[in-house]
Amino acid sequence: MKKVFKNTPLHHFLIVMVLLISSFSVSYSDIAFSETFSDNNQNVPIKRPSNFLHLEESADTIFNMIQKVGGKPTVNSKSTILRKNETLSSALKRINFDNDDINKIIQSVNKLNNSKRILKYLPVGMIIDYAKPSKLTGGAVKLNYNKTKDIFIWQDINNNYFSQIYLRPSKLSNTLVKGEINSSLYISALKVGVPENTLLEMISLLGFSVDFQREIRKGDSFEIMFTKKIDVLKNIIIQTKPITFVSLNLSGMKLNFFNYKDKYGFPQYYDENGKSTKRTIMKTPINGARLSSGFGKRKHPILGYTKMHRGLDFAAPLGTPIFAAGDGIVEKAGWNGTYGRYIRIRHTGTYKTAYAHLSGFNKNIYIGKRVSQGKTIGYVGNSGRSTGPHLHYEVLRDNKQVNPMNIKLPTGKNIPKSIIMDYKKHIEKILIQKIALEKSLQNKKIAVNKVTSVKYLILN
Ligand SMILES: [Zn+2]
Repeated sequence: MKKVFKNTPLHHFLIVMVLLISSFSVSYSDIAFSETFSDNNQNVPIKRPSNFLHLEESADTIFNMIQKVGGKPTVNSKSTILRKNETLSSALKRINFDNDDINKIIQSVNKLNNSKRILKYLPVGMIIDYAKPSKLTGGAVKLNYNKTKDIFIWQDINNNYFSQIYLRPSKLSNTLVKGEINSSLYISALKVGVPENTLLEMISLLGFSVDFQREIRKGDSFEIMFTKKIDVLKNIIIQTKPITFVSLNLSGMKLNFFNYKDKYGFPQYYDENGKSTKRTIMKTPINGARLSSGFGKRKHPILGYTKMHRGLDFAAPLGTPIFAAGDGIVEKAGWNGTYGRYIRIRHTGTYKTAYAHLSGFNKNIYIGKRVSQGKTIGYVGNSGRSTGPHLHYEVLRDNKQVNPMNIKLPTGKNIPKSIIMDYKKHIEKILIQKIALEKSLQNKKIAVNKVTSVKYLILN
């Protein structure tokens, strides 16, 4: 798991989550509403179309599978896993099936649809349950083929082998997790039932709005609602759906974000007013200015030699207002050497913007001030090493200047007015679901508290 995070930009967010997520008080309940999830809230297994294989439900043990198919009774079932470079044959050989049985088993698997592919791509680490045949008892092998399917091979009373693919039964479960933020471990988030995928998703969708490193305080809290698909036999999560709702309470400031599909069917997140969670950084944080120097190598107008220009210059009259290129927090506002009067804004854990050679600052701008996109932060000037009034504008990714014209930030489109009513109805439904989950959670909590004094409740 850690390996995966190491090289992603989310990595440092995750480290911060280690600090931020802590004593969760909670979890969950059963699905109470179906209309919102109508497209995916059916009771699985979903049957294949009739022209394809008709798949029946799998069972948890070989014993129960044999009951289901009416095979020759088995005894002493055991388990192993498929090792690296093993085929089904060699695995069976390793666990001492005799050659005759192995041949018959492979022959029966060969009758399955797609058998070549199945045999070729059996996953390493796959659990193999098996019962060896004897004179009086049957042989059987159950392959935990993938997240949704098992392959069962069994003997009938005439010692013939048969193979069949079975669907593992699963169910969708709507889940609400509430947590209080103290100072604890990322792992505890996973422990209390926020699946890893969902956690990553939550961090990336909040990353535009929240600076995890500096804005999270002890006592802050969050809520997250999502749907998970559970393997009924193993009672494990096999899939998570995009987050439905996420809320953060930061020192009394509440941020709520709702999932709403855009016109292409992709989930996007908006606040209660339909404002997108995604923040762009303006490429031109000034009005009516002319781009006088681009990003890249150029002959420096004062120094006279070729130098890398790590920003954009916008020529504009002295005093022209400069805007915050995106929502963020002022990290620096003051004199900064050759940059002259200088402002730097931190937008997310990754992006910052800087503004140089100003003639003055907006009087409400100071270090630590939260600014929103488009707010005037200062005025064009000629301070520091500069040949004439202009704004020198930089975008920094992980503290390195990048070409603002080349950065690809997700564009955050707000909900258009024409569908805002529909959106409001949609979030009302989500909140109703949330209240229902809270109620059932409360009931379960009371029930559990009567019999135990565990600190954290995981109610699945
Ligand atoms: Zn410049």
